Amino acid sequence: MAQHPRIAITTYGRDERGRFSLPAAYVDCVRRAGGLAILCPPGEPRLAEWLALADALILVGGGDIDPALYGGPRHPALYGVDRERDEGELALARRAVQSGVPTLGICRGTQLINVALGGTLHVHLPDVVGERVPHRGSRPGEEALHEVEVEPSSQLARVLGATRIEPASSHHQAIRGLAPGLVVTARASDGTIEAVELPGHPWLLGVQWHPESTAARDATQQRLFEAVVRAAGEGRRRPSERIAT
Ligand code: MN
Repeated sequence: MAQHPRIAITTYGRDERGRFSLPAAYVDCVRRAGGLAILCPPGEPRLAEWLALADALILVGGGDIDPALYGGPRHPALYGVDRERDEGELALARRAVQSGVPTLGICRGTQLINVALGGTLHVHLPDVVGERVPHRGSRPGEEALHEVEVEPSSQLARVLGATRIEPASSHHQAIRGLAPGLVVTARASDGTIEAVELPGHPWLLGVQWHPESTAARDATQQRLFEAVVRAAGEGRRRPSERIAT
């Protein structure tokens, strides 16, 4: 039986009807890249056991991280705050950093990696940079396209095969204080941090946009999923490089 790299994917928290959910596009992208998707909803008390099942981790998008977790202010534009999800995912992100498991952060997932490592967020980006660059659609939950400039020497540029992209976005928050160890690898024209990497980690990338939204028609965005699945497969062949946690 062929062994495909196992890609752990977080999910959204419990909704008002008591259901966990996840946009199917995340799973589609992983499957298209040859990975075996394993979902992990919030509230898992055995996080270490769950992460040990996987060869890579994808921290997906969603609502805002509770600003109390990074010393940020309350703001009327905050939405979807879910402490159960925040606490589990922060623990997961820290484990992923320590263990060296390949990790891809997407939108909230990238903000989460930054907070897990001691960084802070802009609680409402339009208050800081205005709305000249459309980081989100005109209605809640809608996406917009805006240009992102990628640092040519970055791992991200090598993965994408491009330094100027126009991905789909839906965010009203972004990294404010960069966590120690992270480096910025892409920005929007208003200065907003759009991607980070963690030098010294075998494979950790975070993007502020939504590659899964356009990957079915945009090979450049699908390459992020191909790269994390490839890194997962390589890590699996060299398990001694992974540090037990
Ligand atoms: Mn953006």
